[in-house]
Amino acid sequence: MKFVPTVVVGPSGVGKGTVISAVRAKYPQVWLSVSATTRQPRPGEAEGRNYYFVDESQFDTMAADGDLLEWATYQAHRYGTPCQPVFEMGRSGQCVLIEVEVAGAKQIKERLQRVRTVFITPPNWSILEERLRGRGTESDSVIEQRLATARREMAYQSSCDAVIVNHQVADAADQLVRFLGLAPVKGSTSPTE
Ligand code: 5GP
Repeated sequence: MKFVPTVVVGPSGVGKGTVISAVRAKYPQVWLSVSATTRQPRPGEAEGRNYYFVDESQFDTMAADGDLLEWATYQAHRYGTPCQPVFEMGRSGQCVLIEVEVAGAKQIKERLQRVRTVFITPPNWSILEERLRGRGTESDSVIEQRLATARREMAYQSSCDAVIVNHQVADAADQLVRFLGLAPVKGSTSPTE
């Protein structure tokens, strides 16, 4: 059976993870790929839930062994999507989401015959900046680098199948639910209410 994973892409800080969490809170059958990364965990992040936190040599091995569907370097750290769970979940009929930055999305589109891409965009630039600073987890120089990368990444939205503006998480989540074609939850007027 051919499956069609959905790649969720957009600049760091735009709220991709928050929007996806809002969808999964209502639709636990939606499966989200857990990436491997060489960056350090942020406070509150857990191994195997947010990421698989690996060192450089473990990442090298995963990449060399062909265990990654895609991988990219982002702000001096590497991030990659383990292939096997994506294919297993896809084959078992799960709705598969993969959250990546733009270079990773391009690789997945090249590699898989069928994939759908959703770009999450901020309502405006100052909101993205506020969100990145508000997280309070990165230094000013890291935030500046992430903003510079985000400016370049914004151009990719025209290559995506859908663009969702993240004004309000609940509204953005509703739009993602509709894009995924998920049936409304019983007793709810709106998919994520
Ligand atoms: P963060 O350090 O904020 O968790 O992630 C930085 C960027 O890397 C975000 O845009 C995030 O979506 C992206 N990212 C997370 N996992 C992966 C992955 O497996 N592959 C790629 N290419 N990017 C990823």
